[in-house]
Amino acid sequence: MIISPTIAALAYLVSAVCCIMSLRGLSGPNTAKGGLYYGVFGMGLAIVTTLLLPGIESYGLIIGGIALGGAIGAVIAKKIAMTALPQLVAAFHSLVGLAAVFIAGAAFHNPAAYGIGEPGAIAIGSLIEMTLGVAIGAITFTGSIIAFGKLQGFITGKPLVFKGQHLVNAVIALSLIGLVVFLCLTESVTIFWMIVGLSLLLGILIILPIGGADMPVIVSMLNSYSGWAAAGIGFTLQNTLLIIVGALVGASGAILSYIMCKGMNRSFLSVVLGGFGGEAGAAAAASHGDKQVKIGSADDAAFILKNASSVVIVPGYGMAVAQAQHALREMADVLKREGVKVRYAIHPVAGRMPGHMNVLLAEANVPYDDVLELEDINRDFSQTDVAFVIGANDITNPAAKKDPASPIYGMPILDVESAGTVLFVKRSLGSGYAGIDNELFFYDNTMMLLGDAKQMCEGVIKALDH
Ligand code: NDP
Repeated sequence: MIISPTIAALAYLVSAVCCIMSLRGLSGPNTAKGGLYYGVFGMGLAIVTTLLLPGIESYGLIIGGIALGGAIGAVIAKKIAMTALPQLVAAFHSLVGLAAVFIAGAAFHNPAAYGIGEPGAIAIGSLIEMTLGVAIGAITFTGSIIAFGKLQGFITGKPLVFKGQHLVNAVIALSLIGLVVFLCLTESVTIFWMIVGLSLLLGILIILPIGGADMPVIVSMLNSYSGWAAAGIGFTLQNTLLIIVGALVGASGAILSYIMCKGMNRSFLSVVLGGFGGEAGAAAAASHGDKQVKIGSADDAAFILKNASSVVIVPGYGMAVAQAQHALREMADVLKREGVKVRYAIHPVAGRMPGHMNVLLAEANVPYDDVLELEDINRDFSQTDVAFVIGANDITNPAAKKDPASPIYGMPILDVESAGTVLFVKRSLGSGYAGIDNELFFYDNTMMLLGDAKQMCEGVIKALDH
């Protein structure tokens, strides 16, 4: 069955509306599930519509590709650990970038197949769209691979900087602009592939200097790039839906980057330029000196928690690693039954992806009303008896306020130290993602509960029951 262009346009319109509804739904935990269904339906409709457009010569390859890609995607989705999602997202972004490069390459070499002219006589507008798509796609491809390597731990999370780095990046960026102009004038194949090569290099150079704590912004920035690359290629393919969806991804990724920058108190430009303060952070992490640390047990924690009238739980990446959210909620329920007021404080970059903690707490059926964002809870710490920090580290580190040389300086933190007692659940005195020491471990009102987050919560529950 082949459908007419009018039906296809209508179906694309419905699909675009579904994608917009999906984004809207995903903006809140209550509506997120509905948002997902809208997204799945919208994308399904887009794929079916595209397959029914006139001009498809053979379905064999397409169906084979969908089956192979779908099977790989399904296996990955089943196997992936929640804690590895950020690097998976980065890896998938790289594929979007690579697809954009391939499509632009095909269109450049066989423009007639895309209805944009003949080899050597491609319409100027199409050339500009194509080169923008290919450049952004190539930057996204290598940039995402480096981000994947950093998040997976294949490449150091520390900023990799060298002298004259910003100058080199600026020269490459200016050369790219010059080459795009030159390509439009000459349609030279060599220039086209030079643009691809330089963009691939720029992707590597932009992401390498980004330090650990700034990775969240970079992941959402690459998300945005992949959207713009898709939109650029949508123009080449003259596919309105690809343009709309690409722009939606590009714009939402850019907005998310802005929100993350605000959360980190960073200017977007400073993150993109990267490489700030990495060495200072490494030096700070070198030793604990002869500072004293108070170490407690699950029994000690249970005693303190039971005698508190208000507790604020601060979850972080370690809670995700330990999958401690269910045990944590159970612990909170026991405390609530004892008459303790229990709330949760969420930092915008806690965990390893935006909304990471919200997702885990929702999975454990923590009531949404108990979960508060940084700006809504920070002032309450001074009137809180116990801050129960579970698997979090960087997001509580006072160096962000006190030490201008620290890589996280300027990032807003959860002011847990203002609480009467800070209970810190983690396995060691080691650092978090940014690789820097946390002096909070040595404060007088801090007690370290060293151990796995889930086991510690279970231990506290047991002690509370007794
Ligand atoms: P951190 O990475 O700062 O700290 C997590 C802590 O969890 C570690 O210090 C670790 O200490 C502890 N931990 C690990 N496993 C366990 C376990 N099984 N049980 C108990 N504790 C455990 O996490 P935060 O959430 O505080 O901060 C997030 C950091 O990640 C920020 O620097 C942020 O910029 C960065 N980031 C955030 C992203 C996002 O989108 N949210 C994306 C990429 C990076 P120990 O080893 O001693 O147990």
